[in-house]
Amino acid sequence: MAHPKRKHSHSRTRKRRTHQKIDPPTLTLCPHCKNLKPPYQVCPFCGYYKGRKILEIKEKTRKKKR
Ligand SMILES: [Zn+2]
Repeated sequence: MAHPKRKHSHSRTRKRRTHQKIDPPTLTLCPHCKNLKPPYQVCPFCGYYKGRKILEIKEKTRKKKR
C-alpha cells in the first residue's frame, strides 16, 4: 500500500491546524434592554424582537445585566 515516505514535522502539522479554530459567538446589543444577545434572534433577556414583544420572560429566569 502507498505510504508516506517520512514523518512530517510538528511545525508543518501546526501550520495546517492554525486554520482549525472556533470563532467566538457574535453578540450585539439589544436595542430594548441593552444586554448582549445573538443577532437576528429574540432577546433572551427581555423577549423583544424588532420592537415587538415576542416572548414572556419570567423574572426568576432573567439574568443579571452584564
Ligand atoms: Zn433585550
